[in-house]
Amino acid sequence: MTVSHRITHITGGGSDGWDLFRKARRMIAQGRPVIELTIGEHDIRTDPRILDAMDAAARGGHTGYAAVPGIPDLRAEIAARVTVQSGIETTPEEVLVVPGGQAGLFMAHHATCDVGDGALYIDPYYATYPGTIRGAGAVALPVEARARDGFVPRTADIEAAIEGFDGRVRSLLLNTPNNPTGAVYGREALAEIAELCTRRDLWLISDEVYEGQVWEGEHISPRALPGMAKRTLVVGSMSKGHAMTGSRVGWIVGPGEAVAALEDLATHMSYGIPGFIQDAALEALRMGVGFETEVAAPFRRRRDIAARLLAAQQVVRAVPMQGAMYAFLDIRATGLDGEGFADRLLEERQIAVMPGESFGRAAAGHVRVALTVDDARLEHALGELLALAAQLARKRGSEPTPRTA
Ligand code: PMP
Repeated sequence: MTVSHRITHITGGGSDGWDLFRKARRMIAQGRPVIELTIGEHDIRTDPRILDAMDAAARGGHTGYAAVPGIPDLRAEIAARVTVQSGIETTPEEVLVVPGGQAGLFMAHHATCDVGDGALYIDPYYATYPGTIRGAGAVALPVEARARDGFVPRTADIEAAIEGFDGRVRSLLLNTPNNPTGAVYGREALAEIAELCTRRDLWLISDEVYEGQVWEGEHISPRALPGMAKRTLVVGSMSKGHAMTGSRVGWIVGPGEAVAALEDLATHMSYGIPGFIQDAALEALRMGVGFETEVAAPFRRRRDIAARLLAAQQVVRAVPMQGAMYAFLDIRATGLDGEGFADRLLEERQIAVMPGESFGRAAAGHVRVALTVDDARLEHALGELLALAAQLARKRGSEPTPRTA
């Protein structure tokens, strides 16, 4: 028996760029002292107050099927939050509670693309993006964002990707603050992209799961730009902002009719999410933005540690470290690509980082360092990374320049 092309096609076949991650995990399993800076997961657990709310809800009987689009209080709380943060009046009917941001992305592409339609995404990208698009039966169309532009895409390149596709392009997926690059898109860039979406009649799928982790500039939700609320689906999550990755709870915010249609999809896909998780999410949101600042504080601090260490040398450059829980480092001066450098770092210094190549072509020559271990270990690991980079760059500098034909 064979399984469908639609699901075997999700990963696209071949290497998925996670070989180094798996190698690090094997070394850890063998008991080797690897410092793991690969995955974007907090080094704290979910706050006990949130767990208490979850426990009380479950013990209080909220263990049956819960309302598929989300319990009314949670939808209302998310709507109020989005209204305050974006300045766009948002109603509970414009909010769908989903089992995590990833499911939100999957559902958003199902909602906007028919089979064979083109769906744009920006390279470098979060690892699941192309597979999410393919899983929805659409064709994943990358748009390169360049290091020299601070990894913010140019509208001319988005246009070129649309022109280059022999079919209908329906959506553009953006992610700000960005994983893996740490870029936070400014108002001007977003306004240009919004204008393009309007002119080209595209849906904008806005992945805002890192909205609470901005170190420079401000988070602007493109849904708040003129005319965009009717063509934007925002994907949000409790994972990053509230350290609730394992609870699998997030939301989609969009036009009421789209959300009603997405509710049909939810009915046939997940039948909602557990009531006690929703009660816990409600409690977490009611703890206010002060709590989110607390959860984000270690990343802000570690980002400053990284900035200090990077400023003291000239081989490795960070671009641009404006948000999210990663430092994205340009290691091209070492003469190695991201995979080669990450491999040397793992073999020689027992430090695991993600090669940029895992996140697309535009990320080649970079590595992503997750700021997810305590400050002292991070400082040590970054020190080792910079020392290896300096050693490689010195060696390269002392080698005679190869003759070219
Ligand atoms: N989008 C981005 C950019 C991410 O980095 C992640 C998780 N690492 C997700 C979406 C999905 O997050 P979750 O499903 O935990 O909400």
